[in-house]
Amino acid sequence: MCAERTEHKPNLLLSVLGNKCPRCRKGRLFETAHPYHLSRFMRMNRRCPECGQLTEPETGFYFGTGYVSYALAIAASVATFVAWWVLLGFSLEDNSVFWWLGVNGFVLVMIQPLLMRLSRSIWLAFFVYYDKNWRARKLLEA
Ligand SMILES: [Zn+2]
Repeated sequence: MCAERTEHKPNLLLSVLGNKCPRCRKGRLFETAHPYHLSRFMRMNRRCPECGQLTEPETGFYFGTGYVSYALAIAASVATFVAWWVLLGFSLEDNSVFWWLGVNGFVLVMIQPLLMRLSRSIWLAFFVYYDKNWRARKLLEA
């Protein structure tokens, strides 16, 4: 009897949103699960605790996350703009645009830890793909 079991492939979107390793989609990328633990919310595990994937494959790997973070901030701004437009409305006869700018700036500052972690998770998922045999082919300490 074969003891091999079929591995359920976790969803890519959910693993990226959950800051999971893109190779096994199980291990946590960050040391702390709480994004608002501000003294260490960006500390990453050196390797995935499940499969051993390096979380920073090369020096300066995360320089490109600025582009991802920028796109996420624009998407969040569009979302607050649409929500403001639908719920409160904009008018040329009042200061509603400036109120939205202020509220949007505040929202962007408050969700910044989430965006920073998410942009790293997305960036790593661009370059590291799911390996269905990650249990058999664990990456060991070099
Ligand atoms: Zn992993």
